[in-house]
Amino acid sequence: NSQARQFFVGGNFKMNGSKASIKTIVENLNSADLPANVQVVIAPPAPYLEYANNLVAAPTLKVAAQNCFDKSSGAFTGEISVESLKDIGLEWVITGHSERRTIIKESDEFIASKTKFAIDNGVSVILCIGETYEEKQAGVTLDVCKRQLKAVSDILPDWSKVVIAYEPVWAIGTGLAATPQDAQDIHKSIRDYLVTSIGKDQAEAVRILYGGSVNGKNATEFKDKADVDGFLVGGASLKPEFVDIIKSRL
Ligand code: PGA
Repeated sequence: NSQARQFFVGGNFKMNGSKASIKTIVENLNSADLPANVQVVIAPPAPYLEYANNLVAAPTLKVAAQNCFDKSSGAFTGEISVESLKDIGLEWVITGHSERRTIIKESDEFIASKTKFAIDNGVSVILCIGETYEEKQAGVTLDVCKRQLKAVSDILPDWSKVVIAYEPVWAIGTGLAATPQDAQDIHKSIRDYLVTSIGKDQAEAVRILYGGSVNGKNATEFKDKADVDGFLVGGASLKPEFVDIIKSRL
């Protein structure tokens, strides 16, 4: 049941922010009296990761990278090493965000490889999946999610350090969040599928976050949805209302 899965709220800053704005956001979270039973992970742009991590004081707050590569070091200009993330004290990375899938053209296999590499090297992963508007219209939402998950489960047996973020692309940055019931239905279907691929125990333990136009107002509407274990928040994570989302299960 969902009681056993700790509520999780991620903040994906995307390619936004400055030292000044990130300082404001982290200090706001530090002083917000965050609930002790909610795990919070914020993902600033790569140039600010260490800066943000040094500002964090709230015990439940961690910093994630938005991306990483599937090799430790070497001739990979512009890429982000998992070893470097660990070196600056990070424990989390986001993989497979739809903007990387669609704009940067990352494949399911590449995302799976990065996910496995991060986990194998001791960094936990927020793995993003989700369908485009066209795929939703074509009725293949679950097939797309399964395909994206299968690429990972084919090479990763242990999902204890993975959090899944279901983020329908049509809901991201549009103000058109999925309804709580639609999110619950797809999350349940995703979990049912995971039972067949990674086994019942792991499928029941893995957190499935909803992402896409979550804000301080609509977050509470997901409260009674058993398979919505938290949120991955973009735009609203840059604003004070992020705290309302973190506190939405209280
Ligand atoms: P949004 O983005 O909350 O701005 O819709 C969510 C995400 O891309 O993670």
